[in-house]
Amino acid sequence: RIVYVNGAYLPEAEATISVFDRGFLFADAVYEVTTVLGGKLIDFHAHMARLDRSLSELDLTAPASHDDLLAIHRELVTRNGVDEGLIYMQVTRGAADRDFLFPAKVTPPSLVLFTQAMALRDKPAARTGIRVASVPDLRWGRRDIKTVQLLYPSMAKMEAVRQGADDAWLVEDGVVTEGTSNNAHIVTAGGTLITRNLSHAILHGITRAAVLRLAADSGLTIEERPFTLDEAKAAREAFVTSASSFVMPVISIDGMAIGDGTPGPVAQRLREIYIEEADRTAI
Ligand code: PMP
Repeated sequence: RIVYVNGAYLPEAEATISVFDRGFLFADAVYEVTTVLGGKLIDFHAHMARLDRSLSELDLTAPASHDDLLAIHRELVTRNGVDEGLIYMQVTRGAADRDFLFPAKVTPPSLVLFTQAMALRDKPAARTGIRVASVPDLRWGRRDIKTVQLLYPSMAKMEAVRQGADDAWLVEDGVVTEGTSNNAHIVTAGGTLITRNLSHAILHGITRAAVLRLAADSGLTIEERPFTLDEAKAAREAFVTSASSFVMPVISIDGMAIGDGTPGPVAQRLREIYIEEADRTAI
């Protein structure tokens, strides 16, 4: 596999980053994950807009223009022959002597990209649905910034799997924030789609935004507000959204079946129209 590191395309075994890189020492870094479908990129410009926001919230320097980043994404897709999968891109504050204070801006940011080829369109889990377990949300208070501080979500997913589930839903003060790497949604008995409103509490998912647009276009009533774990357990349907899972039905929460315990029709329909739209608009 060829990876990109600071201007060079290299075999992964030859790619290096300084041990003093602040991404490594302080998780002083942000990232984006963009989906490749049919060799093309889904929602690339929305990912770049979110990257810019993450960078500016942390006073990080942009590593390159959007056009240059697009060219690098495309070059990696070509070099690795990726038809379907993900491109991971990370920007760090760069290498500097270890100090809690940010270094003066002379340190150039580090830019790393790699690809992960994988089936996304026809995932078996999309047909069966996934089971989630609730885990306390103990992450920091700026989850809207897409930083690489992923230790707690990683621990939460480990705990969910230990409990026999597939992923965790993170819960704070009785309300669901989001999944470990996806946004959480429910559909009420009355057919209303409820999803957590945007704030510092959750990542502003690119897939969430696309799916909400499509849901509104198809006439669904949408409420953007916090919902409780109890409300979720009593919902007719539940699902998650992310660049890698698109729309993924949730069939149980803490072992309690959602609806009849099979993927719900709203989630399945939203998955179909999301993939149609992605195929149509990918660049
Ligand atoms: N929330 C969290 C915590 C995530 O890590 C992700 C995926 N990076 C998402 C939501 C979904 O975001 P997106 O749709 O942009 O992939």
